[in-house]
Amino acid sequence: MAVAYKRILLKLSGESLMGDKNYGIDSDVISRYAKDIKQVTALGVQVAIVIGGGNIYRGMNEAETGIERAQGDYMGMLATVINGMALQSGLEKAGVYTRLQSAIKMEQIAEPYIRRRAMRHVEKGRVVIFGAGTGNPYFTTDTAGSLRAIEINADVILKGTRVDGIYTADPEKDPNAKKYETITFNECISKNLKIMDMTAFTLCMENNLPIIVFDMNTPGNLLKVVTGEKVGTLVKG
Ligand code: UDP
Repeated sequence: MAVAYKRILLKLSGESLMGDKNYGIDSDVISRYAKDIKQVTALGVQVAIVIGGGNIYRGMNEAETGIERAQGDYMGMLATVINGMALQSGLEKAGVYTRLQSAIKMEQIAEPYIRRRAMRHVEKGRVVIFGAGTGNPYFTTDTAGSLRAIEINADVILKGTRVDGIYTADPEKDPNAKKYETITFNECISKNLKIMDMTAFTLCMENNLPIIVFDMNTPGNLLKVVTGEKVGTLVKG
């Protein structure tokens, strides 16, 4: 099967790992994702993953938690490492070689983030999971996804979400909302469509890194995206 992208950065939100639960990690979701990821690695596609932490901790609500923003953000980053470890386990169970790299040093459980090493891993067919976001407070894992994608020269960033693309309006609220197959970065800005936070989005736009927003919860969708089928919405320059 021919592939449309040789090297991908897959961004998964922490919340997606909850499945139908209110909190934490659903092992069914992990094994489903592992299966989908294995399918694309089997085609020779090089895969790196950035995973969020929102299912465990989000650091941004200082007023609610009483925890200082930067401190909370570090807690959020640690949450992404927990998710990364769960995903790593699931992938290994499925027979996929993996490496977990953390932007915050935790040498007993993850390699430190080293760009050239990450690139070598993906060249060898290992799935690299990037944990701890960017390693800096005041950022998001979407920004970590854009940053790492650009750093490792990924062809595209694939943002797995609950909805199957970008719509003219919120499809969960407006029945007349229509899906875009393709849209430009500038159109997203002029139409005020929020795909990622501004920092993450701007990084992609300035470095001409295409984004595909797609529904990761439909098994087989990842394979479709990678083989160039029209799934989700493609954002490009
Ligand atoms: N975070 C951070 N810097 C980063 C990435 C993440 O401070 O580079 C923190 C931030 O508090 C964020 C939390 O980690 O709320 C979890 O990440 P995010 O909310 O992006 O996860 P997702 O929404 O994808 O589950």
